[in-house]
Order: sequence, then C-alpha cells, then structure tokens
Amino acid sequence: MSAIQASRGTRDILPGEVGYWQRVESIAREILGRAAYQEIRTPIFEQTDLFERGVGEATDVVSKEMYTFQDRGDRSLTLRPENTAGVVRAFVEHHLHAQGGVQRLWYLGAMFRYERPQAGRQRQFHQLGVEVLGSSDPRADAEVVVIAAELLQAIGLKDLRLEFNSIGDQRDRQHYREALITYLMPYKADLDSDSQDRLTRNPLRILDSKDQKTQAILQEAPSLLDYLSPESQQRFERVQQLLIDSGISYNINSRLVRGLDYYTHTVFEIQSDDLGAQATVCAGGRYDGLVTDLGGPETPAVGWAIGLERLILLLQQLQPPIAPTLDFYIVSRGDRAEAQALKLAQLFRNTGFSVELDLSGSAFGKQFKRADRSGAVACLILGDAEAEDETVQLKWLASGEQQAIAQADLPKMTDELRQQIDRWRC
Ligand code: ATP
Ligand code: MG
Repeated sequence: MSAIQASRGTRDILPGEVGYWQRVESIAREILGRAAYQEIRTPIFEQTDLFERGVGEATDVVSKEMYTFQDRGDRSLTLRPENTAGVVRAFVEHHLHAQGGVQRLWYLGAMFRYERPQAGRQRQFHQLGVEVLGSSDPRADAEVVVIAAELLQAIGLKDLRLEFNSIGDQRDRQHYREALITYLMPYKADLDSDSQDRLTRNPLRILDSKDQKTQAILQEAPSLLDYLSPESQQRFERVQQLLIDSGISYNINSRLVRGLDYYTHTVFEIQSDDLGAQATVCAGGRYDGLVTDLGGPETPAVGWAIGLERLILLLQQLQPPIAPTLDFYIVSRGDRAEAQALKLAQLFRNTGFSVELDLSGSAFGKQFKRADRSGAVACLILGDAEAEDETVQLKWLASGEQQAIAQADLPKMTDELRQQIDRWRC
C-alpha cells in the first residue's frame, strides 16, 4: 500500500527544525510581553461572512484563496486566511472596548490560503501578529513598527528594508481611484489579465502587480501621495518623524497598497532581498474602519503580521539549527538495574536535569555508542553489580572519567552535579 503524504502546500516541522520556531516564539513572547501586549487565541475557523465583510470580497484572499466549506449543519465556514478579522470579531463580541483605553493584543497561529506553493508560500502557514485597538495617535503606528523592528533584530535578522506609505482615508482613496482608472483605461489591453480584472473592481491593487509591462505603464501613473488631504498628509509626516526619532530608517514607497481592503493611512512592509520572489516578511498598517464594519463601536486600530515561514527561512540562512541540550543519558541492563534506572530518570528530571533513558535493552557497548551520539554531558550506568549494591556509575562523556556513587547520595549532590555539567558545557 502506498504511504500517505502531507497535503500539498503543508509542511511538517520536524524536531531538527523546531528549535528555530521555539526560539522565535520565545523571543516574541518576551518582547511583546515587555511592551504590554497580551496574547489572544481565536478559533481557526470562522463564519465565511466574517472574512467577506472583514477582508473584502474584491481581494485575492477572499475571491481566490479561501478554504471554505459547508459543515454538517450546512453552515458556511472558512479556515482563517488571516487573523485580524478574527481578533476584531472577538474584540467586538466580548466588548473588550468596554474596558476603555488601548487594547494591545498579539496572536500566533496557522493560517490557510489556497495558493500555489513555493518557497515561502504555503497553503497552511503561520503568522505572528499584533493589533493595537483604540488609538488613532500616530504614536501607535510608530510603536507597532518599532516593535516589529526590535523583534526582527532580536531574532537576529539583518539587511531588512522598511517600505512605508500612506493610503489616506476612504475619501482620499476614492479620488485617487478615479484618477488611476482614468489614467489606466487607455492602456487596458496592455495590462496583465489580473490587472484588467482589477481595473474596475479593485484598481489600487494594480499598483501591486508583479507584471513588468504593467509596472512600465504605472511609471507615469498618478501617485497616491498627491491625493492625500492636508490632514492625511500631516498625519503621514508625523508618523515618519516619530520613526526617525526612534532611529528607524524607511523608504517611502507610493506603490505600496497592501492586498486587504480594510487599511487606512499607514501601510508598511518589511522586506528582505534574501527570500527570492516572496520578499515580504512583515506587513501591516492602520485599519480605522474595520471595527465598525464588523459591528463594533468606532475604534481606530493598527497592526501587522509576520509570516513565520519566511522569517525562519531567513534565520536558517544565518544560524545553525538549535539542538536541545541533554544533561544525562542513562544506560542500564538487567531487570533490577532497568527498574532502578527508570526511577533515577524520574529523580533527575524532578531535580531539573534533562535526562534520556535508553530503552533498547541492547548490549552495553551499543548503549554507550548511543550515549556518545546523544549530546549528553554525562552518562549514568547501571548493571547487575550496581543494582545489587544500589550504586550508579557516573561517567563524564568528554573525558571518560568515571566514579561510583551511592544512589542514596544523589539527591544531595544536585548542586554539585549542576555545576560540573555547566563546566563541561563551556
Ligand atoms: P504576498 O503578497 O506575499 O501574497 P500578502 O499580501 O498576501 O503577501 P498578508 O496577507 O499581508 O500577505 O500577510 C502577511 C504576511 O504573511 C506576508 O507578508 C507573508 O510573510 C505571510 N504570508 C502571506 N501569505 C503566505 C503564504 N501563503 N505562505 C507563507 N506566508 C504567507
Ligand atoms: Mg497573498
């Protein structure tokens, strides 16, 4: 019978690689915790309506990429393609706004989009994201950008670029939209087919086209920045000043529009040249209209999402995999010795050591070979003789030094053993 493989566009994260994920997750927890962001966990599937309303029917995500299905009760459900809509739904549903002030939230989890799989693009992928709800202050925009930069730096990434833009408010965009359509109409036949489709439905997205001919036509297109109202312009400048004051450099990219409908004013992406075609690691912006679109009270908001697969691809280029550390490997043979070894493993675990117990029952020689390969600092050895007089042989694997210790003495030797292990490690 042929073996079943993981579904197209999904990947197993195997033990050899999971250290990268754990490192990123723990740094994220720490940095976001220090900035007073709180974690929120929302369901992986939601009612399809949520994304149609919250992300926008004209977006690629909703029109082409969603995993939507009818459940057995004939409800239309969708595996979340992103998590801002879900977080805002929870914010409204649980009246988090009633707590007043600013809510700073973060999430981490799997997202699902039906896309053509390639490096850095999967059908199940993971995002780490933040959402700051309840502040229209430009400092909130600056704060989320600064935190993204700090996080990526703490993780060890280098050579990242911050692309920054303002897409104004709905009115600015309406004016620009008309100007863009007027400009592009005469070139319609020369645009790539996706852009032709978007010309009336979602013309701003054409700015995002990867097609060279379309990009050439766009060279002379009107710039969104010329359509910002004086207030929007002022806001844009204020956020930029705050970024400069925080020591963050950026490029203004007037073509940057982002794919999702809900953005207003600030939009940004953090990109890397080391990812090939999938250059964007982090993307975000302000979305002042979304909370009301989803039935909540007027609540300005700003956030971002980092694509963790892309981040980890970059990290793998920079750092070797992180292996877990092991303190003791326990080797035993014979019924009584094996029973005592199981108990010793428990004792050592409970005193804070990491311990691997050899379960093979094979000859000592084979067990010793595995001990050497395990990366443990020391080996505990129990045979019939040790079982008989309730001792254990402690062997330091780097030097081969060995000593017999009474099992009863082990609990009071914890500190001494910890110090010796630390010495051998460095
Ligand atoms: P792209 O233009 O690459 O399709 P996007 O605009 O659709 O990105 P967002 O919806 O803004 O992406 O998602 C934020 C981040 O999540 C992206 O910048 C990327 O790092 C990551 N991401 C998005 N889609 C995928 C995917 N299919 N596989 C892996 N990561 C993804
Ligand atoms: Mg996409």
